[in-house]
Amino acid sequence: ATAVLDVRGLRIEFPIRAKALVAIDAVSFSIGRGEILGVVGESGAGKSLTGSALIGLLEAPGRIAAGTIHLAGERIDNLPEKEQRRLRGKRIGAIFQDPLTSLDPLFTVGRQLTETIRTHFPAMSSAQARQRAIELLAEVGIADPSTRFNQYPHQFSGGMRQRIVIALALAGEPELIIADEPTTALDVSIQAQILALLKRLARTRDTAIMLVTHDMGVIAEVADRVAVMYAGRLVEIGPVEDVVRRANHPYTAGLMASIPPLSRQPERLAQISGSMPRLGSWPTGCTFHPRCTKAGPRCRTETPVLKPAGDTEASCFLHQGGVEG
Ligand code: SF4
Ligand code: MG
Repeated sequence: ATAVLDVRGLRIEFPIRAKALVAIDAVSFSIGRGEILGVVGESGAGKSLTGSALIGLLEAPGRIAAGTIHLAGERIDNLPEKEQRRLRGKRIGAIFQDPLTSLDPLFTVGRQLTETIRTHFPAMSSAQARQRAIELLAEVGIADPSTRFNQYPHQFSGGMRQRIVIALALAGEPELIIADEPTTALDVSIQAQILALLKRLARTRDTAIMLVTHDMGVIAEVADRVAVMYAGRLVEIGPVEDVVRRANHPYTAGLMASIPPLSRQPERLAQISGSMPRLGSWPTGCTFHPRCTKAGPRCRTETPVLKPAGDTEASCFLHQGGVEG
C-alpha cells in the first residue's frame, strides 16, 4: 500500500551570508494509514523543523535543499505556495503545544470550527457546517457540544482547548496529522487523555499521525513506530517495542534512561553525558561521536546512514562493519 506520508533524503538549509547551515540532512521515513509515528529527540534535533517542512511552514530563510515529500503518492514539496496553503489544514492537520496559538479569543469555538469547515468544504451550507462542527466537538470528547459551541476559548480548560484544536485539525478530514508536543503544556493526567484521543482517532479514522515530542514516555504510550533524531539526522527508526527495549543506536539507548522506571531495562540506565551540539557547529563524521562511549576513529571522519540493524534501522557503524577506521 502507498504510504500516507513518504519523506526521502530531506535536507533543510539556512543560508547565512555566503554559507549554508544544514539544519537537517538525509531524513527519510514514511507513515502508513492509521499509524502513529513518534518523532523523538532533544530540543534542537530538528523534529519541529521536519514537521514545519511537511506543512510548508518553514520559516525564512530556511529552505528545502534536497529530498522529496509525498502525500498519498503525490509529490508536495515542490508545489506553489498557494497549493501548499490549500493542502495544509485540509489534507494535513496540525496541532501545536499551545492551543491558544490556534484559537482566536474573540470568537466562539463554534464560529471558528464552522468557518474552518466551510473553508475546506465551500459547498457546505452554514447549517450543515454547524451540524458538522457539533459532531466534531462530540468526537473529540467535548460534553454537551451544542451548548459548548457558543462558548469562547477562555471558557474551556487547557485540556478542553487542546481537544478543540484537534477538532479544528480534523475539520478538513485530513489524511495526516502533525502533532508537535501536543501534551507538553498540559497536566500529566490530562496528557494521558489527549494521547488516548489521538490514538483513537488514528484507529477510527485511519489517519496517519506524526507525533513530535521530546518525551520518550509519550512515545512509549502511543506510538506504533519511533524515529529518533539527533543533531539534524535520523539515527534510529523501528517498531516502538524494539526501539524501547532493544535500541541499536547508542543515542537511543541513552534516551531510554529518560523513561519512567517501570518500563526501563536495567542495562540501559546509563545517562548520556554532555549536550547536543548547536546548529552550525555539528561535528564531522557521526554527529553523536563526541558523546558516544562506543566511538572509534571511523566515527570522526565518516557519516553513517540508516541501515537495518537487528529489529530496527540505525545509523551507527557498530552495525555496519565496526568503528575502527
Ligand atoms: Fe557511536 Fe560511532 Fe555509532 Fe556514532 S557511529 S553512534 S559515534 S559508535
Ligand atoms: Mg520543537
